[in-house]
Amino acid sequence: MSKSDRQLGMGVEITRRDFLNGASIAIGASLLPLMSCTKGVEETLAIRHYPPELTGMRGSHIGSFEAAHAAVRGERWSGDEIDEHYDLIVVGAGISGLSAAYFYQRDVDKNARILILDNHDDFGGHAKRNEFDIDGRLMIGYGGTQSLEAPGGYPDVAKQLISELGIDTQRFYSAFDRDLYDSLGLRRATFFDKETFSSDHLAVGDLEDPGVMKLTPLSDEAKSQLTRLLADDENFLAGKTGTEQLEILSGLTYREYLVEYAGVGDEVLDFVQSLPRNVWAIGSDAYPAVAAWSGGYPGFADMDLGFEAYGRGEDSEPYIFHFPDGNASIARLLVRRMIPTVAPGNTMEDIVTARFDYGQLDQVDSAVRIRLNSTVVHAQHVDGQADSDVRVTYVNDDKASVVTAAKVIMAGYHAMTPHIFPDLPADHAAALSNATRAPLVYTNVLIRNWTSFKELGLHYAYCPGSYHHSVTLDFPVSLGDYQCPKSPEEPMVLHLTRIPIAPGLAAREQFEAGRRELLTTPFETFERNIRDQLGRLLGEGGFDPARDIAAITVNRWPHGYSYGYDPTTDQIAFEYALWPDKQRPWLKARQRLGNISFAGTDAASEAMTETAITEAHRAVQDLM
Ligand SMILES: Cc1cc2nc3c(=O)[nH]c(=O)nc-3n(C[C@H](O)[C@H](O)[C@H](O)COP(=O)(O)OP(=O)(O)OC[C@H]3O[C@@H](n4cnc5c(N)ncnc54)[C@H](O)[C@@H]3O)c2cc1C
Repeated sequence: MSKSDRQLGMGVEITRRDFLNGASIAIGASLLPLMSCTKGVEETLAIRHYPPELTGMRGSHIGSFEAAHAAVRGERWSGDEIDEHYDLIVVGAGISGLSAAYFYQRDVDKNARILILDNHDDFGGHAKRNEFDIDGRLMIGYGGTQSLEAPGGYPDVAKQLISELGIDTQRFYSAFDRDLYDSLGLRRATFFDKETFSSDHLAVGDLEDPGVMKLTPLSDEAKSQLTRLLADDENFLAGKTGTEQLEILSGLTYREYLVEYAGVGDEVLDFVQSLPRNVWAIGSDAYPAVAAWSGGYPGFADMDLGFEAYGRGEDSEPYIFHFPDGNASIARLLVRRMIPTVAPGNTMEDIVTARFDYGQLDQVDSAVRIRLNSTVVHAQHVDGQADSDVRVTYVNDDKASVVTAAKVIMAGYHAMTPHIFPDLPADHAAALSNATRAPLVYTNVLIRNWTSFKELGLHYAYCPGSYHHSVTLDFPVSLGDYQCPKSPEEPMVLHLTRIPIAPGLAAREQFEAGRRELLTTPFETFERNIRDQLGRLLGEGGFDPARDIAAITVNRWPHGYSYGYDPTTDQIAFEYALWPDKQRPWLKARQRLGNISFAGTDAASEAMTETAITEAHRAVQDLM
């Protein structure tokens, strides 16, 4: 091991249970000696059946994607018929698939027998729960779908489901401690890394503050350009009509707009490049200028483009609707409602710490069964008749099995569907193939205390040039028996975000490059980068990565946010108000095909929880 790796703590024993780069099966003989130091063998083996507790490489973990990729490459399985027939099979146990099963029982047949198949070892899809144990204390993080965003504006169908699950959104006003970090004097910060900005510098506080800006490693010219840009009080298209402004912005990326109209140089562009990354999973170089305007990014002042933009000017609610495991709690509430034996309790509070018995998910006497580690690779109406049953082939542990159902709801990925359904008409297959997805990484790092944050005075850092583009203390939410850390001496889950893209290419190509990167990057590379970044960011506050990191979970999502794609303009769909129906291939893609209908966020090309729910509802209605 190199000296620098040793200093970073690369060899230090942490909770990193996937010595095989994410294979949860690694909990086997090789691990027992390490784990039996702290846990008995029986307890250790029990962890095998409790996926939230697995650390290392999660999200799309090893074992979850191989069969799907083989199907896309053309591999076919004959499969053994097993004697199971269902009223409904749902493909995908994300929020949409789970909601579809719930709606089907609620609205179609309360006794319906339903099988939900998912390729992952946990349910929830993107809504993934990460747990840690430190000295007997449970720490919870979110590995994907983060929060309910502005639930007051949710469509009625989604509002009703949330309410039927017992979620009272008002409860978050007291659960989310909005004063905690302020009361400790913690602020937002920017980390300028030496590889991008010539020297490492942590700028704590608002860059609009001249005292903070002055100390950054930017040149004087760049400081003045960035100050002007962040002030956001200049309309760089002043003098043009709203129509002209819209026409200009519609043809440019945010980066191009800033170069051509705001006159900013390379250093400011490097700063701005990652601004949209966390929210939109794309950099400024491929983020449409008009979307930057509607998203409230700096450089547009009070520009009025004459149409009601998606997301602009909404009566926004605070960003506080967050369970400690993110929207995994919604998935867990749905599962507990449909399979009550899986966990005790019945409230939005007790779901937070409820330990699920994964052995209950697929019981023969349960009306709803969830079968994990099962990738659907083939589906076809029996004898090719659209009004007949559907045969579904899935691969579990390299073994293919065939089950049948009267109806099927696809709640997975549109782009994969043509590889599963041989019966699809060509235009339908083409519409499904148009869907694209952005890759993301949500990393959770358990640290022993956060005194370095207190010392340096920050709770969040934007890191435009670093491996992870942001580092933040967890949302301060206490719900039920779960208490978030309030004192810097307590352990803390840090949340880091990385968007693996390839600036300079078209958005769709960037997403493809990011997916390739995620599939070929070992956990060790993530770990080294995480240790290096946190050490440089927090070192002056006393943080030592070798000593202070207790566990790491990297949630990689090669197939993350859903985006629509317009083959005629070669653009991904951002600004819905400007997107005519004929350029929405997803409307065609989601059309019912015989006894098969389509749910999931791809069905509306919008990566939101309320969309996952409403599309599930529509898919059920389509079958009625
Ligand atoms: C990192 C991240 C953060 C997010 N944060 C938010 C947020 O804060 N708020 C918000 O509203 N939305 C957020 N989203 C958007 C999120 O996609 C939706 O909110 C929602 O969770 C999607 O649910 P879904 O069921 O449609 O899809 P998914 O969660 O993707 O679930 C689909 C499931 O189907 C499985 N599947 C696919 N094909 C097959 C097959 N052939 N066989 C078996 N299983 C299959 C998939 O592997 C997956 O498990 C986030 C997304 C990501 C990736």
